[in-house]
Amino acid sequence: MKIVTLGTSHGVSEKGRYCSSGILETRGVRYIIDLGAPTDYLFTTNGLKYDSIRGIFITHMHTDHAGTLPFLVGNLSGKSAIRYIQKRENAPEIMPPVTVTIPESAGRDALLVWMKALHSEVDFDDPEHPFWSKTVTLQSLEECDHYEDENIRVRAIRTEHEPAGSYAYDICAEGKRVLFTGDLHHTFRDFPKVALSEHFDAIVCEYTHYQPEAAMPILEACKTDRLIFNHIFDPDGSRIKWFEENREKFPFPVTLANDGDEFEI
Ligand SMILES: [Zn+2]
Ligand SMILES: [Zn+2]
Repeated sequence: MKIVTLGTSHGVSEKGRYCSSGILETRGVRYIIDLGAPTDYLFTTNGLKYDSIRGIFITHMHTDHAGTLPFLVGNLSGKSAIRYIQKRENAPEIMPPVTVTIPESAGRDALLVWMKALHSEVDFDDPEHPFWSKTVTLQSLEECDHYEDENIRVRAIRTEHEPAGSYAYDICAEGKRVLFTGDLHHTFRDFPKVALSEHFDAIVCEYTHYQPEAAMPILEACKTDRLIFNHIFDPDGSRIKWFEENREKFPFPVTLANDGDEFEI
């Protein structure tokens, strides 16, 4: 299993850091966690094929996590889009199925309206565009808080990120288990407690909304083989300084991710 941190910035892009997007790669297929980065551009630039995407999981509907949803959903819409974007004459007639998981059904409805405003209208019941219903499933966590296919098993865990909450994703693949925290509450009280009692091969934790010294007792008690910080906010240099001064105190390797980093899990 491989994790790629496509975008590692916080609420806005910083020099050298796009907003939050990550890829979990297993058995030749890809799952995307959050669409804050220009993921369409990064896929094209890195030679990644859209037909390798099987699932997209949005942690919460902040722009830095969901802003490029219309691009990806539009680009997954079928052969013509793939031919146009990736110049692939051998693009499949019908894309492999993709499940896009959005926290709230209101977000799903708003996405469809926004795509209509962008003249990229999607009608899942339109008989003239049957590839939509065969290809993309838009589901909300209000309807179903888990996902499973032949490659991965995903469970959403509700957190208290202000103002409307967010979700962490507990993902099992290849007999391994990783946790993506998504954004958290400023007190860190909502950090998923399952990581304290059950083993994870890796935890990808946001590094913006809490004081690291307050979070450290919880983080260092996690039963994980490694910790990767993403979603990095450091306006005065103090948070990266704290990381450098304290990383060796953790009982497992701790990394501050950069855009494009790849982690073999
Ligand atoms: Zn964020
Ligand atoms: Zn947020």
